[in-house]
Amino acid sequence: MAALLVFPAPLPLLRRLLRSCWAPPGGHSPPWAPALAIQTPASLLEHVEEKTESEESPSFLDSIFWMAAPKSRRTIEVNRCRRRNPRKLIKLKRNIDVCPQCGNLKQKHILCGYCYEKVKKETYAIRKQMGVLEGGPHRAPTVETVVLYDGETPRDKDEGKRIIERNRKRPSWFTLD
Ligand SMILES: [Zn+2]
Repeated sequence: MAALLVFPAPLPLLRRLLRSCWAPPGGHSPPWAPALAIQTPASLLEHVEEKTESEESPSFLDSIFWMAAPKSRRTIEVNRCRRRNPRKLIKLKRNIDVCPQCGNLKQKHILCGYCYEKVKKETYAIRKQMGVLEGGPHRAPTVETVVLYDGETPRDKDEGKRIIERNRKRPSWFTLD
């Protein structure tokens, strides 16, 4: 597809010069209009139209955030040096200790997970027993509660306190204060 671009006649002096050059020898010159016609590809016109459109409303491409793209490929050696850099590797833990209660490994400064799970289960069982004893919510007595295990008797200082009896041996980690 092609289009014709029509330009107006140039300056009078240039026009006269062009007429004298282009005029056929002996004959009269043809009517002077249009002065100059150039054949151009249609894509040039479309480009001009696009430009005017972009001035009116922002193009779709304007909304894209253009990132810098790498110019050359990095070798696998360079990539592996970066990925396997010593500061990116997992650090060795040197604060691992054996739990004195259960023998599992644990970090020195934190609670043993296995023992904590056991404490949670026992506490849940005690709470459940207390709930059954109270027979409903908001009925807790104002006195302190003592938990007694198999073969234990209330001490003198436990007088007047509520007593919960557990029918099992006292766990080693559940010490009596
Ligand atoms: Zn433990």
